[in-house]
Order: sequence, then C-alpha cells, then structure tokens
Amino acid sequence: MTMIPPLPRRPRWRSLALLAICLAPLLWPLQHLAKHYYQQELAGQNRQTQDLYVANLLGILHRYETLPQILGDLPALRAVLADPLRLESLTNANRLLKDIATQTGAEVMYLMDTRGNTLAASNWDKRDSFVGRNFAYRPYYTEAIAGRLGRFFGQGTTSAKRGYFFAAAVHDREQIIGVLVVKVDLDHTENLWGKTPEQLLVTDHNGVVILTSRPDWRFRATRPLTEAEREAIVAIRLYPTQEPQPLNLNTDAWLIQTQDIEETGWQVSILAPRTLIDRSVNTVLAIGAAALLVLMLLLGLMMQRRRHYIERIDFEAHARHELEKRVMERTADLEGLNSRLKDEVLEREQAQQELVRAQDELVQAGKLSVLGTMSASISHELNQPLAAIRSYAENAEILLDHQRTDDARSNLKLISELTGRMASIIAHLRAFARRDRHAPESVALQPALDDALALLAKRRRAMAVDLVRDLPDATLWVQAGETRLRQVLGNLLANALDALTEKANPRKLWLSAEQREGYVYLYIRDNGPGFSSEALARAREPFFTTKTRTQGLGLGLAICDTLMRALGGELLLGNHPEGGALLTLKLRVATPGANLQPPEDTSA
Ligand code: ADP
Repeated sequence: MTMIPPLPRRPRWRSLALLAICLAPLLWPLQHLAKHYYQQELAGQNRQTQDLYVANLLGILHRYETLPQILGDLPALRAVLADPLRLESLTNANRLLKDIATQTGAEVMYLMDTRGNTLAASNWDKRDSFVGRNFAYRPYYTEAIAGRLGRFFGQGTTSAKRGYFFAAAVHDREQIIGVLVVKVDLDHTENLWGKTPEQLLVTDHNGVVILTSRPDWRFRATRPLTEAEREAIVAIRLYPTQEPQPLNLNTDAWLIQTQDIEETGWQVSILAPRTLIDRSVNTVLAIGAAALLVLMLLLGLMMQRRRHYIERIDFEAHARHELEKRVMERTADLEGLNSRLKDEVLEREQAQQELVRAQDELVQAGKLSVLGTMSASISHELNQPLAAIRSYAENAEILLDHQRTDDARSNLKLISELTGRMASIIAHLRAFARRDRHAPESVALQPALDDALALLAKRRRAMAVDLVRDLPDATLWVQAGETRLRQVLGNLLANALDALTEKANPRKLWLSAEQREGYVYLYIRDNGPGFSSEALARAREPFFTTKTRTQGLGLGLAICDTLMRALGGELLLGNHPEGGALLTLKLRVATPGANLQPPEDTSA
C-alpha cells in the first residue's frame, strides 16, 4: 500500500494570535461601556447618600430655626432684660436656658442685651461660660438687631466646636430689648459619615470646607478667596484660622457630585474615588478578555477538530481509493484465474472423455483377452456338439437309407437341440463381447433388483422360495450400466434358484444391502447347498459348471465377474456360516440423479 502524503501544515496558532490581535480592540468599547455604566451607578448611589445627608442636615437646622423667637417670649428671660442686675432673675434665666437646651438637644442657648453682652446662658455654670462675653462682632447679632432671623455658621471661639447659630431679637412691644441665640452642634453630622471610600465635603459661601469626613481637608479653601472675603473672615472670626489654605483636589482621582443648599448658601459634595470604578471596570475587562480567550480557544479547538475531520475524510477517501484499486486488481486476477479454471475444466472434461474412451477400450481389450483365454474352451465347447451333430447327421443318413425314419427323426431332434445349445453359447459370448457405448452412469439399485426379480417371479413362485428383503428405503445409487447391472443380478438370482432346486423346502432367498466407505454392498444369500470348495475356487472360470450339460453353460459368473470389474466394482463369492451361498456385489456409490440415458441394447 502506498503511503498517504502528509497534508500541508497550516500555521494554526499564528492565525489565532492574529485573530486575537484583531479582536483585542473590541475590549476598548467594552471598557468604555463598563466605565460609563459603573460611573452612572456610583453617581446614582452617591446622589441618594447626598440627598439623605442634605435632608438630615436641613432637618437638624429646621428643628432649631424658630426656637429663638419662641424663647424670646418667655417672661423669665424678659425679666433679665428688664433688670439685668437682679441676681434671682439671672439665676432663673440661666437655669431655664439650661433646661431647654438639654431638652431640645441644642448645644448652647444664650441671651444678649442690645449691645451684644451675654446676660444669661445655658452654660453659665461651665468653665467656658458665655455669660459676660460680647458677641456683637458676629453677623447673627447684627442681623437680629436689624429685626431679621440671624443665621450663621461658625466655630465657637471658646468651645472650638463648629455650630450653626440662629438668632432672633426679643421685643418689648415694638422695641428690641435683647437678642436670643441658639447654637446647634454640627460636629456630630461629620461623625455620622462612616468609613466609606466616598468622602463628604460641605463648603460655605466662601468655598471653605466647614464639614468633611476628612479632617485634613477641614477649613481649606476650595477656590481662591477675594480680598473682601479675607477681611470678613478675619473680622467675624469664622474659622479657627485667619487664612484658609487652598485645598488642591485632583479632579481626575475623584468623581465629584455637588448639590447647593440655598438656605445656608452651602454646597454639599460627595467625592468618590475613581479607583472604585476602575476596579469594577478592570474586573469586567478581565472577564471580557477571559471570555475572548475562551472563545479563541474554542475556535482553535474547533479549527483543530475540523482539520482532523478533513484529514480523516482525506485519509478515508484515499483508503477507499486504494481499496477500490486493490479490488479491481483482485477482480482482474480472479477473472484471469476464472478463465484459467474454465480452460482447465474444459481440459479435464476432454481428459475425462479420453479416459472414458480409454476405459472403454480397456474393457473391450479385457473382454477380448478373456475371449482369447476362452477361445480354447469355446472351440472345445463348440467342437463337441459339432462332432456330435456330425455323427448324428451321418447316422441319420444311414438310418434314412435303411428306411428307419423314426430313428432318423430322433437323431435330427438331437441335432436340433445341440444347435440350440451352440446358439445359446454364442448368444452369451456376443452379449459379453458387445462394445458398450456408455460410460458408467448413476443407476438406482432397488428398481434394477426389482426388474431382475420380476423376470424370475414365475419360477420362484413355482419353487415356493421365500424371499427375505432387507433393503434400505432410501434409493441406493451405484455407478453401473442399467442393462449390465440387470444382467448381473439376473445371473446371480438364477444361480440361487438353480441351487435351491437341489434342496427340499423351506427354500429361502435373502436380499440385503448397505452403503459404506464409498461403496454399496448388495448381499444375495440362499439356503441351498452352497459352493463346493472346487466351485469356490473355479466358479469364475468360463465354462466351469457343476450342472448338467443341458442346465449350465458355466459362463454366468465369468461374465458377471468381468462386467463388475469393468464397472470398478467387484463380485465376491462365498458361503454363509449357516450354510448356503453368499454372493456379494460391491459397487461404487454414484451421485443421485434420474437416469436419463436411453436404455442400452437389451437384445442380449
Ligand atoms: P452355470 O450356472 O452355467 O453352471 P456359472 O458360472 O453361473 O455356470 O456357475 C458356475 C458354478 O458355480 C455352478 O455350476 C455352481 O457349481 C456354482 N454356483 C453358482 N451359483 C451357486 C449357488 N448359488 N450355490 C451353489 N453353487 C453355485
């Protein structure tokens, strides 16, 4: 078988890498989309947090907004403003303010006269008590004295706590007699902010950070301050520092969302580190790249499988082609062989025909040689009756001369008998010497036997011979000639009947057959006297007979033996242990078949 040529190797992985390079730019829009998505999501979350924070802040402020006005109507406080030197009133006012501050949760509440001096305060008993201090420099004081609600964010100068101040004037009829201030602590709103990565930033109208989740950003300016703003900061002592340092925020690092609180003039910002977005985006990118990789691996795998498949198909096609070629070669060989076989069969047939012809010749030659050996006896056998005929004829002549016609007639009768005997001898010899045109054929044994028995039936019945048939039901096919076989069987059966005439009843004739080792054996047994030892030795010789001259010619067994041998069979002579003769015909088995040959010349 020829080798299959290897398919040209395609650089698979190189093309895959090329594909990867082509597909990689797909990651860029993916990154863009992911960034946009996470930014939106973060912004949404932060907006909610921011809204919550602003609502909380405003809630705190609104809670205290109206408190100064309400407190201003309390008689105990007005009494202090009416007579600031009365100790009892002062003590009462202090206690009252302390109680209300505790109840409302305000950091501090205090009452000032119209010049800004603190007369009573909720922290009157503390070390950093406001009592006696003047806050006229604070804008809320100015606002309240002007009849408006004073609002102000600032860091307590004494407490250092950041707070929101609400201030309202205390009226006596139309006249302002004092100012009441409530300070709300805002420090704690910063602390509400957890330790999240997002940062809080509340700036006031100056852009300075007042509340933040990052202490290092506190009181830093998010924008450059104007000269007027600087002066105001110094004047009203807004922050612990006179000069807020700039806060330089890297806007690239933070996602900033800002909301204005108009009420206070503040801005609330939430700063989310962009790294938060980057982390998620990177995760998405990693997943995308992994998916791409997997896709490529799958693609590679598919390509490999396809390649293998194609290779296999190629291989199979090649193998099929090869097989077809071999089948064709083999067919051609077989055709050659077949024609050779045909020739051989033809030769065989010819040889067979030759053989049959040769065999035929041989049989004929055998017969002639037998005739040769017979000729002495034949001439002897024929000479005897001839001599007798001659003497009978001479005698008859003399007898006629003497007018003895009756004696002459009896002599002529004897001559006639003798010629009959001679004719019989000659007829046997002719039948024996006749050239058989047919090769051995398939002959059914049982029907041939039946025919032979039918010819002798009359005689058998007359002799009351009991026939014991033990033949198989299945037809036994033998190689023979139909007529020759019947001739042999007829001879043997006639001999048996001849032998049985010498015996009293009961007379028995047994017929049995068997097939073994390629031969059919037919046994013919009678309960007559059997062969004498001489007869057993000489029975096959032509003209040997123990019968009287008129009964036997002594040619039957000689002819049967020759015919059997010509057919490739055998005639065996013997006696049965229980007495009587036992003759065995050994014939070649033939293939079963109808005997379609035309019957042989049956003239014999
Ligand atoms: P023929 O029958 O004319 O005598 P055969 O050749 O047929 O000549 O027989 C030769 C001899 O063989 C017979 O004379 C007889 O002695 C003997 N023989 C043949 N068949 C039997 C038989 N069935 N039983 C006894 N002897 C037999």
